[in-house]
Amino acid sequence: MASFRWIDEVSSVRYSEAMTKRVYIETWGCQMNVHQSERIAGLLAQAGYAPTTTIDTADVVIFNTCAVRQKAEEKVYGRIGEVMQVKKRHPVLFGFGGCIAQVRGAELMRRFPAIDFLFGTSNLADLPGIIARVASDEERITHLPPAAGTEELPVRRMSTVTAMVTITEGCSNFCSYCIVPYSRGPLRSRPPQHVLAEVRDAVAAGYPEILLLGQNVDSYGRDRPEYGDFADLLEQVARIGPRRIRFTSSHPRDMTSRVLETVARYDNICNHVHLAVQSGSNRILHAMNRGYTAADFRAIVDRARTLVPEINVTTDIIVGYPGETDADFQDTLRLIERARFGTIFVAKYSPRPGTRSARLPDDVPAAVKEARLRAVLELARTIALNLNRGFIGRTVAVLVEGRNRSGSYYGRTDDHRTVTMPDAEIAIGKIVSVRISAASSAGLTGTVDVPAEVRR
Ligand code: SF4
Repeated sequence: MASFRWIDEVSSVRYSEAMTKRVYIETWGCQMNVHQSERIAGLLAQAGYAPTTTIDTADVVIFNTCAVRQKAEEKVYGRIGEVMQVKKRHPVLFGFGGCIAQVRGAELMRRFPAIDFLFGTSNLADLPGIIARVASDEERITHLPPAAGTEELPVRRMSTVTAMVTITEGCSNFCSYCIVPYSRGPLRSRPPQHVLAEVRDAVAAGYPEILLLGQNVDSYGRDRPEYGDFADLLEQVARIGPRRIRFTSSHPRDMTSRVLETVARYDNICNHVHLAVQSGSNRILHAMNRGYTAADFRAIVDRARTLVPEINVTTDIIVGYPGETDADFQDTLRLIERARFGTIFVAKYSPRPGTRSARLPDDVPAAVKEARLRAVLELARTIALNLNRGFIGRTVAVLVEGRNRSGSYYGRTDDHRTVTMPDAEIAIGKIVSVRISAASSAGLTGTVDVPAEVRR
């Protein structure tokens, strides 16, 4: 679950004393969902709702959910109990939205009487009207139009450092295990002029970092060839001149050399690519409908490192896909060793109802999945530690993102490594020069050398 923090000063949406209604938004899942909550917040601000951080103080509670993993879905259902308790104490409208709502709508309304309205992943602009109707009619509403088109909505940003900008909605790849094409619909590219206008606004508002978002950014423009492709869009964003540009997620089947060449050409595009490989076994990759082999993937990583020698490649791995043998898993470990990923997000396979792989027997025993997960994590930690140790003694540019619980500032390098800076007095949102003195598998620690801004 991503907690939702409100930062009034940086939003283009202003709050006023006249706002007497309060909305609490709880977000689950990926950055796409976090950004969708920023748009819901912007939209509801225009409808007169100010933010609140507890369910107890809210007039409207919204859960923006994720259906990608079974465990996360179960946790969301567990949270409904708290809303029910609050509803016993005072009236509150409860809206349940996002991916889980889109794919399990009718079942949710039957199972959870506490839900007052259901909304999906598209047509968010209808939300203020739905809330008004539910408030006046006291009738439950299910609003789940098929995901289509793209929406231009006001945004209430959570961060003062990173401005998330959507470039595509949905996905048409149909990886066998993935619910996204069903919950978010087919690929829809956002018109480039809208993307570029939002980037210009964010830069003008002082955001040092732009994060371009899509389920598969490399597929940008495939549905609308007149928009150009992702390399074209990335170049236009770079020319606007944000200090840093990131993008996620990339797909090995769709990533082109032109994208990597654009990363190499522009200093303000970060030296980092998140390229989900999922498995190192050709047999499993084929079963997953990923559209590439382990050799194809290695070739992309090699090309990336030829063009951008310092690039940090991070990835996602699924262990225990149906039919995954020990030999398949050894292929995955071999690929990890070869690719030397900076970070690996690893998950145990869980079937998602409605997907193609859910029809297969989930036949890898839980204990084997757990052992494979631990093996990947251990290898990932060893590789990350070795890579990070290579930074000791070097000076790197760090964009300061915030303070951790112990009060130390932290930020990220251009290549997406986390750097902690104890004892520093620096401003969030600035880029500082840091001399690295220590490394762990999780990141770097250093001293601010030049408390002035450096170029990247
Ligand atoms: S590329 Fe595959 S895994 Fe990623 S969102 Fe699309 S279907 Fe899901």
